Amino acid sequence: MEHEQAVATRRFSIGENTFNARSIQSGLYIVSTPIGNLGDITVRALETLAACDFVACEDTRVTGVLMQRFGLKTPLMTYHEHNAAKQRPKILEALEAGKAIALVSDAGTPLISDPGYRLVNDVVEAGHSVFPIPGASALLTGLVGAGLPSDTVLFAGFLSQKAGARQKRLEEAKDIPATLIFYESPHRLSATLEDMARILGPERPGVVARELTKKFEEFQRAPLQDLVERYSGDRPKGEIVILIGPPAEKEPDAADADRLLLEALQTMPVSAAAKTVSKATGLERKTLYARAMELKDGASNEDAGDDG
Ligand code: SAM
Repeated sequence: MEHEQAVATRRFSIGENTFNARSIQSGLYIVSTPIGNLGDITVRALETLAACDFVACEDTRVTGVLMQRFGLKTPLMTYHEHNAAKQRPKILEALEAGKAIALVSDAGTPLISDPGYRLVNDVVEAGHSVFPIPGASALLTGLVGAGLPSDTVLFAGFLSQKAGARQKRLEEAKDIPATLIFYESPHRLSATLEDMARILGPERPGVVARELTKKFEEFQRAPLQDLVERYSGDRPKGEIVILIGPPAEKEPDAADADRLLLEALQTMPVSAAAKTVSKATGLERKTLYARAMELKDGASNEDAGDDG
């Protein structure tokens, strides 16, 4: 890492073709790499990996495969969860000296269930630039192929390996009106799906997205209980994303309407309360008006009783 990259090494190749990378400004480049299909690297990622002074990676063997495939000669250093505290000051020193550094993880987008958050935080605090170079990530790849609502999404990374903590997290997520996305390892898939079906509901739509972008890519789309049965006693190979559709919207019932009407009646007259609650619930305004009158009378009789 102490050697400035010689200009001759700032190259990358795609197939038979070799390209020179332009020099880049000092800063930390967060470079996404493929999640299984090397063809998913971006041109900008290659230019950055070729042009930076060194690449901080989780495992030099894994990143070495990528470097070799694209003729990249940039020096590598490791940055992973076990040496991050020791490596961070070195990276900050290099930025201080005006270097350009790329951070990659073994696959996909760094920081997404991967190391890097503290580094980015420290780099920002130290006043250096951070440049994200976007690309593949299993969570978005799974989401866009799942066929579940994509407007509101909660990505929750890996659930705990401990059953109690995992179940607590699922309880917390149960009523969130969003598509939920989790990463999971194949040997915990079956137990996790059982907890999901029990806590989130057996009919809730689920998707197990496996080996995304790879030869054996597969989407299993079914209600959670069916997925439990599909994977019971089965340990599929490869990498997995689990996605779960939002909870079904509950039709408002009479008790909901009463609660909303009573709330509204505290601040507005009967007709406005009926209109507001009708808008919120889709229930008929006339019926709500009649009910609001009853509730109001009930409330004033109670008040009269109290006074007497
Ligand atoms: N940073 C990565 C990203 O942007 O997706 C995720 C890293 S995390 C340590 C690895 C987990 O991501 C795997 O255990 C799996 O849950 C998910 N994953 C990664 N690649 C995948 C793929 N090709 N297909 C399905 N899931 C994948």
